[in-house]
Amino acid sequence: MRPATSPIARDIVLIGGGHSHVGVLRMFAMKPLPGVRLTVICTDTDTPYSGMLPGYIAGHYDFDEVHIDLRRLAEAAGARYYRDEVTGIDRAARKVLCRTRPPVAYDALSINIGSTPQLSRVEGAADHAVPVKPIRRFNERWLALLARVRAHAGPTTIAVIGAGAGGVELTLAMQYRLRGEMAALGRNPDELRFHLFSADPSILPTHNAAVRRAFEGVLAERGVAIHRDAEVTAVYAGGLQARNGEALAADEIVWVTQAGGASWLRETGLALDGDGFIRVRDTLQSETDPLVFAAGDCASMPGLPLEKAGVFAVRMGKPLAENLRRMVLRRPLLAYRPQRRWLALISTGDRHAVASRGGLFARGDWVWRWKDGIDRRFMRRFNELEPMAERAATAAEAVPLDEGERTQAISAVAMRCGGCGAKVGATVLSRALAGIHPIERDDVLIGLHAPDDAAVLRVPPGSALVHTVDFFRAFIDDPWLLGRIAANHALGDIFAMGGVPQSATAIATVPPGLESKVEDTVFQMMAGAVAVLNEAGCALVGGHTGEGSELALGFAINGLIDEKLDGVLRKGGMRPGDALILTKPIGTGTLLAAHARLKARGRWIDAALASMQQSNRLAVPCLVAHGATACTDLTGFGLLGHLVEMTRPSGVDAEIDLVALPLLDGAAETAASGILSSLQPANVRLRRALRGPPEALQHPNYPLLFDPQTAGGLLASVPAENADACIAALRNLGYARAACIGRVLPAGDALEPIHLRI
Ligand SMILES: Cc1cc2nc3c(=O)[nH]c(=O)nc-3n(C[C@H](O)[C@H](O)[C@H](O)COP(=O)(O)OP(=O)(O)OC[C@H]3O[C@@H](n4cnc5c(N)ncnc54)[C@H](O)[C@@H]3O)c2cc1C
Repeated sequence: MRPATSPIARDIVLIGGGHSHVGVLRMFAMKPLPGVRLTVICTDTDTPYSGMLPGYIAGHYDFDEVHIDLRRLAEAAGARYYRDEVTGIDRAARKVLCRTRPPVAYDALSINIGSTPQLSRVEGAADHAVPVKPIRRFNERWLALLARVRAHAGPTTIAVIGAGAGGVELTLAMQYRLRGEMAALGRNPDELRFHLFSADPSILPTHNAAVRRAFEGVLAERGVAIHRDAEVTAVYAGGLQARNGEALAADEIVWVTQAGGASWLRETGLALDGDGFIRVRDTLQSETDPLVFAAGDCASMPGLPLEKAGVFAVRMGKPLAENLRRMVLRRPLLAYRPQRRWLALISTGDRHAVASRGGLFARGDWVWRWKDGIDRRFMRRFNELEPMAERAATAAEAVPLDEGERTQAISAVAMRCGGCGAKVGATVLSRALAGIHPIERDDVLIGLHAPDDAAVLRVPPGSALVHTVDFFRAFIDDPWLLGRIAANHALGDIFAMGGVPQSATAIATVPPGLESKVEDTVFQMMAGAVAVLNEAGCALVGGHTGEGSELALGFAINGLIDEKLDGVLRKGGMRPGDALILTKPIGTGTLLAAHARLKARGRWIDAALASMQQSNRLAVPCLVAHGATACTDLTGFGLLGHLVEMTRPSGVDAEIDLVALPLLDGAAETAASGILSSLQPANVRLRRALRGPPEALQHPNYPLLFDPQTAGGLLASVPAENADACIAALRNLGYARAACIGRVLPAGDALEPIHLRI
C-alpha cells in the first residue's frame, strides 16, 4: 500500500465488481483524482467476464483467462478492496452495510451487482433448478453440475430454461464440454440429451431471423430438442412442467431466465422497476437519490429496456466513471445514451460463432476467432497492470471542499507539530471510540469505562503477568482488517507462552486529514481490533493515537499465567527426539511483497489474510495436551530465526524437512520469481546456522525459511510418539495445514545447529 500524498476528502464506494465497476477502477487507475478514495466491496475476488464464460464452460479457456482479479485491479488503481457481501445501505447516514465488517462510509455510491434469479416465482425451481445467475459463485455451481454428470451412470437429460442468447449459448457450450468429458471417460456421448425451453414462439426473440434460423439449424444438428411456447411453471425432483401441458423428466435443470434485482435493494428506499432493478436517470443516478448510481444488470433505464447482457454493463463503465468524477468535482453530469443496435457475437460451443447486429448476420470459425481476439484484448486491459503512478493535483482537478473542510485540509498538509501536538484530537477520538465496545473484566479496576491517566488492573493471587508488545505499519489499505490482524499478531506472544490474555493498550498512528475521514479510520481499525481482543477475553483498557505519515497499529498486551510457571511454554524446553510441529502455513512476507508489486493473485492474498486472522488460541491447549515441550509464535524473524531462538536455550540441534513445510497458496510462486520481503536480507544472515546438502540450498522452499511472518502460527516441539495425534487434533480444530516439519536432534559439534533435509 502507498502512503497518501494528499488528504482524503471524498470516498466513492463501489458495491460489486461487475463489468461497469472494473471499467471505473481502470479509468481511475489511468487518471486518479487526488483527494478521492475508491473502495470496492465485492463478494468475489475473481470476477467473471461474461463474454468468455461460454468458452470457459466449453473448455476453451481456463479459470484465470475468464476472470478479472479484482484485488489486484483495485491495488493497481490505488483503491481499497473489501471482500464482503453488502446487505443494505443506510442512506441517511451514507453508509454501506456489510455482512462481516462495520458500515463503510461514502460520499458517492455506485451499485453494479448484476442480477439474481427469481426462482421463487416458479414452484420448486429454488430447490430443484441450477440458476446460472447470479454470476457470483456460478463457477461452483457449474463444477458441481459437471461432477454430477460425470458420476451419473446411464443416459442424462439436461433441460435449459430460457432460450435467449445466454440460454442458447450455454446449451451448446455445455453440450460440447460434456460430450468431450463422456468420451474421455470411455462413455457414449449420445447418452446426453439436451432440451431447450422457450416461453416465446421462437428462440433468440431479440435477434434477427437469419440468426434465429442459423441457431435452429445448429441445435437441430446437435440433437437439442427445442420446446417453443413452453413457459416452465413448475420444477420438481427429476422433472419439470410447462404451461402448455408438456412435462419432461430431467436429471439437471439449468435456469437461464427470469432474473431480478437483489432482495436487499427493496429495503434501500431507492425506486425500483417491476423486476426489482434500480431505476436510474440517463446520468446513471438513482431516480431517488443523486448520490447513488447504478449500472449493469441491476440498473433499469425507464423507457429504454436494455437487454441484461455484459456488453451493456461494460459500456456503462466509462460514463459511470466520468459521472462519479464529476459528482465529486461538483460539475454537471453527462447523459449516457446506450446504443440502439449492438454487435452480439454468439458462439456455438465448437469455436464457431454467429455475428448479429440489427438485421446483419454472419457466421464462421473466423467470427469465433474475431470474438476471441476482442475478448482477450479486453481481459489484457485488466490483467496486465502496472503500479499506479502518483500524480500531483492540478488546480482543475482539485475536489471542491466546504468551508470547514478547507481549513482541516490546509491544516492536514501544513507543517504538523510533534510531541503531544501530534495526538489525534480528543473530539475526533472520542467520537471514533464511542462505537467501540471492549469487554469488561472484574480484574480491570480502572479502564476505558472510567478513563484516567492510566489503567489499573488486579493480578489474581497465584498469577503472574506475561507482558508483550508488537507494532507494525499497515501492509494493506483496510483499517478494519489491519486492526484484526494487528490484535491477533500481538496476542500471539501471550498464547505462545501458554498465558491467558487479560488487557491491552493500543498505540496507533493515523495520517492527518479531514476529521470525518480520520475518525472513520480510527473507528474501523479499533472495531476490527476490539472484536479480536474481545473474542480472546482481553479487555482494551487504553491507548494512544497520534498522527503519522502512515497508518500503523500495535498493542501492549498483558496476560496471566501461573506464578509457579506451571503450563508455561518456554522456547527452551526442546528435547532430542521431539517432533517439530508448525500450526499454520508460512509465506506472508513474500506474498505481501508480491501484492504491492501486483504480482500476486488476489485469491492468494485473500487466503493469506484469512490465515493471519486465525488465532493461535485453540492450538495452545492442544499442543499442551499432547505434551509440548517448547513453543514460540512465528513472526518477523521467519521460521529459521524463531527456530534458532528455540534450539539455543534448549541446547539442541534440529532438522527441518524442506519438503514438509506447509506454504500459503502462491508463496512458492512468488518466492521462486525472486519477490521477497524487504526484511528477508536481514533474516538471511542467519543462514550460517544451516547445514545440508547443496540441493537443499537450491530447493524452492529454501528462501521461505527466512520469510518474515505476520500473525504466523505456532512452532512447537512435541514428543514424537504424540506427533500424529497432535496434528490430527490441530486439523480438527481448524488448523488445516498443521504439519510435522522436522525433528529435534541432540546437540552436535558443528557450528550449524539446523540441518536441512529434502
Ligand atoms: C454463464 C453465463 C454466460 C453469459 N454469457 C454472456 C455473454 O456471452 N455475453 C453477454 O453480454 N452476457 C452474458 N451473460 C450475462 C452477463 O453475465 C450479465 O449480463 C453480466 O454479468 C451483468 O454484468 P454486471 O456488471 O451487471 O454484473 P455481474 O457481472 O453479475 O457482476 C456483479 C458483481 O457484483 C458482486 N456482487 C453481487 N452481489 C453483491 C453483494 N451483495 N455484495 C457485494 N458484491 C456483490 C458479484 O460478486 C459480481 O462480482 C452471461 C451470463 C452467464 C451466467
